[in-house]
Amino acid sequence: MCIESKRNEDKFVVMVTAKAEVDLRLSDFTPISQLKVAEHEVEKPKFPVIDYHNHLDAQQPEDVLRVMDACGVEKLVNITMQVGQAAYEVIERYHKTAPERFATIGWMDWSGVERSDFTQVSLDRVERLVERGICGLKFWKDLGLTVRDASGELMRVDDERLVPIFDKVAELGIPVMFHTADPDAFFTPIDKFNERYEELAAHPDWGFSGVPVTKAELLAQRDRVIARHPKTTFVGAHMAESSENLAYVAKLLDSNPNLYLDISARTPELGRQPYTARKFMMQYADRILFGTDLLPEVDMYRLYYRFLETEDEYFEYPSHASRQGRWNIYGLSLPDDVLEKLYRANALKLLNGK
Ligand SMILES: [Zn+2]
Repeated sequence: MCIESKRNEDKFVVMVTAKAEVDLRLSDFTPISQLKVAEHEVEKPKFPVIDYHNHLDAQQPEDVLRVMDACGVEKLVNITMQVGQAAYEVIERYHKTAPERFATIGWMDWSGVERSDFTQVSLDRVERLVERGICGLKFWKDLGLTVRDASGELMRVDDERLVPIFDKVAELGIPVMFHTADPDAFFTPIDKFNERYEELAAHPDWGFSGVPVTKAELLAQRDRVIARHPKTTFVGAHMAESSENLAYVAKLLDSNPNLYLDISARTPELGRQPYTARKFMMQYADRILFGTDLLPEVDMYRLYYRFLETEDEYFEYPSHASRQGRWNIYGLSLPDDVLEKLYRANALKLLNGK
């Protein structure tokens, strides 16, 4: 008998080489972890919290306040997705109910982008929003991916026509929030190799694998704007959309002192690389903002606190219904001075126009 066939009969070899073809539907697969490790529910954060990234247009301020009170959230920044009169109404609804508890970031209005006077129209719109009390202006991922000018060309993030707007917001003392591009997996095909397959299956419109511009190019356009406007303060939403590559984000922060980040919707990414993420958060503690980007709910906030404050291992991350990927996260156990900056102090700097 040859050595190969003897090996094939060996009980141990048979055991460690066995594989099965299974046909359990992925949607029906809901394994339960059998790990027995410490679990800490964090009802209230160690310090008062400012949630710098949320969307409250569909909520009522009284309902949101109840959740905020239950979860130690001192202030919540609503990034309104409304423009024009509808935006003014949202701003008024929140600022009238509890002006000290809510702030609003305005949404860049692309209507009329094909007009030759679009830049001037935008400057006026931004001034009107600032008069009504906005604390920032958001440029969403539609810039670079879908917004087209009169010639039908995609508007670049670093388009020269937008230069006066980035200068104007600096003059007005408010930051620009950029949500440019999306997670890396959204730019790869929605197939069996995609680590966010189920999420993209639920939201096929979030997939950008067929678009004419790469994620790297979109980020390069954005990074040029951040470098070109040193007097403007920028907030890179969702860890500057590069939480899969914190070394890249570190370089970006090192070369641009005018850049801040928010952690919203990126707990799954940060929590699956806890050693790297913890080092990063410690090193850049002055530049990172707490934000959630999820429906304001008590359990959601508590999961964020558990992630930031405890050493708990392998637990569910806060997420929308379709989840982000099939993994769990690990707590970062951040020290008090870092938590205090992340939860509140860094946001106050931006809200106070410093
Ligand atoms: Zn958001």
